[in-house]
Amino acid sequence: MNKTDALIIGAGPTGLFTAHQLKLIGLNCEVVDNLDKIGGQCIELYPDKPIYDIPAIPECTGEELTNNLLNQLKPFDIKFHLNDRVDEVKKDNDKWLIKTSNGKTFLTPNVIIAGGVGSFEPRKFSPKECERFENKSLLYSIKDKKIFKGKTVTIFGGGDSALDWSIELSKDSKINLIHRRDEFRGAQATVNKIHELVKEGKINLYTKYQMSSVNGSDKLESIVIKNDEGEAKILDTDYVLGFFGLIMQLGPIANWGLNLDKKTIQVDTEKFETNQKGIYAVGDICTYPGKLKLILSGFHEGALAARACFKLARPNEKYRFEFTTSSKTIKNRLGVKSD
Ligand SMILES: Cc1cc2nc3c(=O)[nH]c(=O)nc-3n(C[C@H](O)[C@H](O)[C@H](O)COP(=O)(O)OP(=O)(O)OC[C@H]3O[C@@H](n4cnc5c(N)ncnc54)[C@H](O)[C@@H]3O)c2cc1C
Repeated sequence: MNKTDALIIGAGPTGLFTAHQLKLIGLNCEVVDNLDKIGGQCIELYPDKPIYDIPAIPECTGEELTNNLLNQLKPFDIKFHLNDRVDEVKKDNDKWLIKTSNGKTFLTPNVIIAGGVGSFEPRKFSPKECERFENKSLLYSIKDKKIFKGKTVTIFGGGDSALDWSIELSKDSKINLIHRRDEFRGAQATVNKIHELVKEGKINLYTKYQMSSVNGSDKLESIVIKNDEGEAKILDTDYVLGFFGLIMQLGPIANWGLNLDKKTIQVDTEKFETNQKGIYAVGDICTYPGKLKLILSGFHEGALAARACFKLARPNEKYRFEFTTSSKTIKNRLGVKSD
């Protein structure tokens, strides 16, 4: 069981800056995100796109913003739990008991939901029986490419992820690449490389085919793919990888007894607290009159929610407002020498 002053759900820009604000005022926090990387929409949806409305940064990409936010967190020791989704938030006396999809538990007086548009989930194969092999030999993301060495890997998809991984894994594995259309959505240079590797016999390409069924009892043995005319092919394979993009779902947040307005959580604008004491919502996921779904709004909301956490985390202390420029305590926390 992890005990912390505040648990942040979501490692997007809002979650990251909220972590900074909590640490600055001397509170501990841990961050959980469903994705395998930090940065939320900025990293997942537009890492290379320039943003022009972050205060005092005339222009930066989604990736640069994320890196800057992480740099700002460097003085602090913050534990990130990636590839893990918060599934349950339940009352436990005067605290909240949180459970994640990986079986981790947290006990905390404060939960800050910075869940954006909800958890990003991979779009999955339609045949139901695929679930039997999920996270074993049928995967939607790659954590360790070494497991594919010397194996047959069947990759589905027509975008950059499917193409890049086909090229990368073809160095040490036998690759079947399957796409339901003739045209690919990836960068032209990548598509050209795929065709070269097909000519060299390093990739077997099947276009206009889709997954029909999977065979195997404990272990995946083969799959059946079908084209639009109903012609079927059986492919022996050790692994299947599906890269069909991500869908955004509010997910488990909808079941935590919070007042919702469509797919957002209603909060007050003093503490950004929900209808449950000690549960706050900040960033894109929260709503209140005048809410702007902008990164800068999330920063402000996180700063206020962090201060609200102080009362429940340190009931016997009084929060004292201080400027970073002049506070010795804050400078100590940042590891900066005071003049
Ligand atoms: C193409 C595009 C361009 C944009 N351009 C701009 C711009 O120029 N300026 C601007 O200000 N804004 C812009 N935005 C909007 C901006 O990206 C969002 O306002 C911002 O990302 C919101 O940050 P967030 O931290 O609240 O949520 P997100 O960035 O969505 O992060 C939320 C995180 O929470 C995680 N999560 C959700 N539920 C759970 C759960 N149950 N358990 C674990 N993790 C969970 C998700 O996986 C996600 O990583 C743009 C958005 C898009 C899509």
